[in-house]
Amino acid sequence: MHPSFERLGLTVLERGWLSANNIVFEGRPGSPPAVVDTGYVSHAAQTLALVGQLLPEGPARVINTHLHADHCGGNAALQAGSGAECWVPAPLVAAVNRWDTAGALSFEAIDQRCDRFSAHHGLADGQLLRLGGHDWQVHAAPGHDPDAVMLFEPTRRVLISGDALWQQRVAIVFSELVGEDGIGPALTALQRIEALAPQIVIPGHGAPFTAVAEAIAASRQRLAQFAQQPLAHLRYALRALVMFHLLELRSRPRDTLLQWMTSTPLLAGIARQLPAGLALADFAADNLDRLLHDGTLVAEAGQVRLP
Ligand SMILES: [Zn+2]
Repeated sequence: MHPSFERLGLTVLERGWLSANNIVFEGRPGSPPAVVDTGYVSHAAQTLALVGQLLPEGPARVINTHLHADHCGGNAALQAGSGAECWVPAPLVAAVNRWDTAGALSFEAIDQRCDRFSAHHGLADGQLLRLGGHDWQVHAAPGHDPDAVMLFEPTRRVLISGDALWQQRVAIVFSELVGEDGIGPALTALQRIEALAPQIVIPGHGAPFTAVAEAIAASRQRLAQFAQQPLAHLRYALRALVMFHLLELRSRPRDTLLQWMTSTPLLAGIARQLPAGLALADFAADNLDRLLHDGTLVAEAGQVRLP
């Protein structure tokens, strides 16, 4: 464990790609025990058990960097156990409480699942949040998700980046899939991170890392490439969403998977971003073939699955 984490009363539960990492804060005077990001719903029992080892009474606060299903899928289970109050990006508090899964919440658009939870407080740029006996700053981090926030502790320079910065790759820029600028905001979020100069970043997926400048440079380069070649980003996004879908469902018949790739609302919308003359069905089939060709997926007896 990084020495700063002990000082700040936090433990990182590093999860996989289906479930985002969970950052658990112990209770200290003036700061109730808390969990930042709670994984995907199909892992909720595991999340409850892992968090329970650190916080036997459960958290009093659940905080989400953003409301993608792999970051808030354990909220309901944690709330059921301990009655935790929940903090989400401010623009989405009302959407959560009317459970607008077909609108402001992204779950139906990308065919992912999330158990219903309730939100009590909003998170906004400039706010302070007391966690583990220290003040954490809330910073807007649009790009991957327009409403996403990051948390930064300035004395130890620790950043909880959500999906705004990973070490090895960049997260899908969702706005671009519906024809809105997301790469510009994503670059601005990287600038903000650079200005904060964190010593260590706790990303939403993958291990905490200290090679922050390198990660920012790599993300910038990839985003610049996506800005120049929007089709490369669409391919990258479709690939990532298919992988997530198969992490969840393990295997699908090839035809069913192709049908899913073209009819899931957000993916169906990609058709409008494709160059003239490239049909969505052909784009999907080509992408699936590439995934099979490079061994990222395997086909067996008509079923497509992870290797
Ligand atoms: Zn995300």
